[in-house]
Amino acid sequence: MSYQTDNIFARILRGELPCVKVYEDAHTIAFMDIMPQAEGHLLVIPREGAASLLDLSAEAARETIVVVQKLARAAKQAFDAPGIQVVQMNGSAAGQTVFHCHFHVIPRQEDAPLRA
Ligand code: 5GP
Repeated sequence: MSYQTDNIFARILRGELPCVKVYEDAHTIAFMDIMPQAEGHLLVIPREGAASLLDLSAEAARETIVVVQKLARAAKQAFDAPGIQVVQMNGSAAGQTVFHCHFHVIPRQEDAPLRA
């Protein structure tokens, strides 16, 4: 999948669009989803410009999944969530709408309906 540098997450990475940033390091940033499916829904993205996970370098994939795990643990504690959903779409047929690779981290409560 070809990478378009004007996608929303690329613009967030360049500081052209605002976000509620919750984490950043040399390889990744994480910020709150603008339309959360549950309280605490955040997105983890690599800084590398890749349209999907299938296009991402192995090194960036490793760096990103470690941050996903770290923030999933933090969100579980922060939101006292019995479950954490990690969701990742590749291609419009799979439901991807922003074509910069990203992972959803979504705290889930026992009594709340799943919408993802
Ligand atoms: P996808 O459907 O591609 O897996 O997920 C894209 C996600 O990006 C959606 O959950 C959507 O709410 C979120 N999103 C879209 N535009 C923005 C934005 O401008 N800022 C933030 N923080 N999230 C966005």
